[in-house]
Amino acid sequence: MASCGSLPPLTRRIDQPRLATWQVYKSNEISSPEAYWNTPSPISAILVSTTTVITITTAMSLHPLIDNGIVKGRQNFAGGTLYCRCPSNQVAVSLKSNVAHNHACGCSKCWKPAGALFSIVGVVPRENLSVTANESKLVIVDESAAIQRHACKDCGVHLYGRIEKDHPFKGLDFVHVELSNEEGWQEPQFAGFVSSIIEQGFNPKGMDDVRARFRGLGLDTYDVLSPQLMDLIATFNAQKAGFTFAA
Ligand SMILES: [Zn+2]
Ligand SMILES: [Zn+2]
Repeated sequence: MASCGSLPPLTRRIDQPRLATWQVYKSNEISSPEAYWNTPSPISAILVSTTTVITITTAMSLHPLIDNGIVKGRQNFAGGTLYCRCPSNQVAVSLKSNVAHNHACGCSKCWKPAGALFSIVGVVPRENLSVTANESKLVIVDESAAIQRHACKDCGVHLYGRIEKDHPFKGLDFVHVELSNEEGWQEPQFAGFVSSIIEQGFNPKGMDDVRARFRGLGLDTYDVLSPQLMDLIATFNAQKAGFTFAA
């Protein structure tokens, strides 16, 4: 790749597939080229020119849990504990079951790790979730949102999202299994709200690559939710409107 000194500076974090310049690491809040090299993902290759410009080639990160392939969950996995990312006094949330409907989500509301384009989020019945340490550090990110996301006020990680109002998914809590040290959680089943990453600054020209990456992982992509979940929502709304369906 030629020197990229003539490219305009990037103002967003890494979200351009295979586009990178010296400015990328500056805008990604990485302190030096060395620090950048030491970042495990999403770096795929680094080229250093002989002039003043350092050129860095990156691959986009969908999410660290799936960037290198999907690890299948374990049948009969009984759940585990989620921890926030504070160095001490971590909020802990115990889950008494595996998650269901685990998926990659491109919406702007779900918590995602730095550098990832998507969150990975699944659900558990709310009675299977309990906060077991440092609950006082949890704050609701947006009281007006359908899903009230409870985040650690110190590290910003979302420990769980809960629905209190009348809603098709009321009774289910939304959680991120990457916050657990256990292995065996249900693997992601699909990618939802894929086009929404554009609204967060992702170049629409890269969308074919994003969808191809998911297909390569065996995940279907949807711009809202999967047909199964959309049918659940529509069924809930139909029943509210007075329709009854034969079992
Ligand atoms: Zn925390
Ligand atoms: Zn989401």
